Order: sequence, then C-alpha cells, then structure tokens
Amino acid sequence: MRPSSIPREKIPWYPTIDPDACIGDQVCLDFCKNGVFEWDEEGNHPVAEHPYNCVVGCSACMELCPVQAITFPTRETLRQTMRTLRAEAASAGSGPPQQSLLPGS
Ligand code: SF4
Repeated sequence: MRPSSIPREKIPWYPTIDPDACIGDQVCLDFCKNGVFEWDEEGNHPVAEHPYNCVVGCSACMELCPVQAITFPTRETLRQTMRTLRAEAASAGSGPPQQSLLPGS
C-alpha cells in the first residue's frame, strides 16, 4: 500500500525490541514471514535485522508478543510522516497523488 514513489527506506516503520523485556520465546521470529527478524545468539533475543522488510502499517508481531517487548511508532506518527513524504514527492514532481496508507490518513 506504500506509494511507489516513496522509497521504503524513507519510511521509519519497523519493530523495535526491548532486549531487557524480551523473554526469548521467538513468537515474533516464528510469526513474521517477511524476514524482518534474526536471532541474536549472544543476546538471546531477536533483532530487527532487516527493518525495511516490515510491511508499512503492520504491527502484528507487537500484538503477539506476550511481554510487550516490541514497539512501533504510533499510527499518528506514521500518518504525519506519510503526509510529509507525499508532499515532498509531489513537490519533486515524482508522480501523481498517492493512495491512502491507513484508514483516515
Ligand atoms: S515475541 Fe516478544 S518476548 Fe518473544 S522473542 Fe519476540 S520480542 Fe521477545
């Protein structure tokens, strides 16, 4: 659902793991099929090694984590970021207006 004119790397949407809260059950690692996470053997917790594989707007792993060790930016922060990026893309003449990312955005 990301506008093709905005490089994924410009969109700061990906999970952040609190290694102190993580209990290492690997629920997120097993769940995510996009290759966002890798296992840190030394730290005994996952890391978001490939953050830009994360689907913009998805936070399913956060919902599944039993100890709330995963956080994402707020939806409002994402909306504001997307508005800014769309405006930048439009002023750069890089394409027509893009589709809505999230309901109400
Ligand atoms: S689901 Fe939560 S507790 Fe389990 S490995 Fe992932 S971050 Fe750690």
